[in-house]
Amino acid sequence: MHDLSDLNQRFEKAAPQDILGWAVETFGRDLAFVTSFQPSGLVMLHMLYDMGVQANVLTLDTGLLFTETNELIERWEQDFNLKVTRIRPPQTVAEQTLTHGAALWERDPDHCCALRKTAPLGDALIHYQAWITGLRRDQSAARQDTRIVSWDTKYKNFKLAPLATWTDEMVWTYIHAYELPYNALHDQHYYSIGCQPCTRAVASGEDTRAGRWSGRAKTECGIHLPQPLESGA
Ligand code: SF4
Repeated sequence: MHDLSDLNQRFEKAAPQDILGWAVETFGRDLAFVTSFQPSGLVMLHMLYDMGVQANVLTLDTGLLFTETNELIERWEQDFNLKVTRIRPPQTVAEQTLTHGAALWERDPDHCCALRKTAPLGDALIHYQAWITGLRRDQSAARQDTRIVSWDTKYKNFKLAPLATWTDEMVWTYIHAYELPYNALHDQHYYSIGCQPCTRAVASGEDTRAGRWSGRAKTECGIHLPQPLESGA
């Protein structure tokens, strides 16, 4: 059994590579790396690559990603010899339209995220004891208390945030230092990038996640919220 309090104290000032190394050693093949190929994820993918670790990389392919995001995933697969598992919802977007009506994301984005993100991820994470996320405390008010290691009450496994203490500046310094490929949309004022219908560019002075579900109270897709999974039916 892991003493989370001890681990969090130990990792608070640790390098992310040390936290990743502990996770790989502790969970082995039962560790999943879940990423949407955003900056934090890219940094840790590169760190694992540098450590010679062939991680179980999972990404949610909702069928509504930007072309630029799909291109970036393919580039990382080629350049870094990654094997990326695309987690897809049971229904295509067209099938969802037949079942739930057109553009569910405009009428009920929580239900849409449950169908296309949180429930499919839950089905995938059943096979793992722990998962790595790109959560950072500086990303939003809702994430400011992110713990480096926690028990995920929703997915019933250990959840790791090795870059929790890093800042946006540190992440981009790393990306530029290693000349890592990143999403071309970042150069068009997109900061946090999710599904195309629910993401817009951010204006100067806005919160970095202001472009997600803009105009709505919703700020998270639900993956990182503690509530029970909404049925994907
Ligand atoms: Fe649907 Fe938008 Fe959630 Fe994507 S981000 S699953 S389009 S509501």
